[in-house]
Amino acid sequence: MIIVMKKGSTQKDVDKVLNFLEKNGLSGHVSKGVRITVIGGIGTDTPLVKERVEELSEVEKVIPILKPYKLVSREAQPENTVIDIDGIKIGGNEIVTIAGPCAIESEEQLMTTAASLKKAGVKILRASAYKPRTSPYAFQGMEEDGLKLLAKVKEEFGLAVETEVMDTRRVELVSKYVDVLRIGARNMQNFNLLKEVGKVDKPIILKRGISATIEEFLLAAEYILKEGNKQVILCERGIRTFETSTRNTIDITSVPVVKAASHLPIIVDPSHAAGRKELVGPIAKAAVAVGADGLLIEVHCDPENALCDGKQALTPGEFSKLMVDLRKIASAIGRKM
Ligand code: PEP
Ligand code: MN
Repeated sequence: MIIVMKKGSTQKDVDKVLNFLEKNGLSGHVSKGVRITVIGGIGTDTPLVKERVEELSEVEKVIPILKPYKLVSREAQPENTVIDIDGIKIGGNEIVTIAGPCAIESEEQLMTTAASLKKAGVKILRASAYKPRTSPYAFQGMEEDGLKLLAKVKEEFGLAVETEVMDTRRVELVSKYVDVLRIGARNMQNFNLLKEVGKVDKPIILKRGISATIEEFLLAAEYILKEGNKQVILCERGIRTFETSTRNTIDITSVPVVKAASHLPIIVDPSHAAGRKELVGPIAKAAVAVGADGLLIEVHCDPENALCDGKQALTPGEFSKLMVDLRKIASAIGRKM
């Protein structure tokens, strides 16, 4: 349930409601707005508990949340969540592009790509040190040596850096090196991993599972928020359907659907959706037009020799050209890019 506090309520009033919730087996999640404070009362509540909360003198009204996800719902928080990464805001008016290679392959590859992306105006670099590969014989990533290179990119270019975390045992280590953690599509329902990143004080990019419904996607985000980490960026990256002409089928509708259902920002990854570089631009343009808060795009300094996902990687030159078109679309819908 959503508990709307009376105007001018004090911390003491909030504590009283929180204590009441705790006594009744519910957890309270406070969201302080400029004018009003709301508390999400999460757990299995009964009509009687709701009635008794409503009777508390500090409470203005109680709204039940009918959706299975609670903390991520628009009902729990009507205004958009804006996530701040070193001053870069995701979820506000600006559409943020995160770009970089699929995987960290060598110091030269990462530094060369980072230098050109910095020139192209990118502020957050993506690159994976741990790779979820379909084949156990494929390149698995540079692991901690790769993380060290990301720290170097941050220091030399002043870029924020993001990378995938695949394992609960690596959450602490990965958090030491990067600004943003990414949960890949294959781990969207790795509930232990979701709980672990829920305890971290860093933004999390949560990618939609390969065959996840939007409800399952939002419930996965709920796991993270429930642990206390409210900085979740959802990422649509295509889903598996009967269609085989693209790597995945982009569900562009998920952007407005998620935006109506949740206050969390949502970005689009056209690269993994497409699987082919000639489709990256069209999907990215559609994503901007449909209201995405950002893009996650694979860019490689030498796609032909990439150790993974070379076919879908743009060169820095192709990426810069695409950004020119994307900015025009952003401007047409009143957003900055
Ligand atoms: C990635 O972004 O590096 C990745 C592996 O994508 P996904 O988890 O969406 O397949
Ligand atoms: Mn990739």
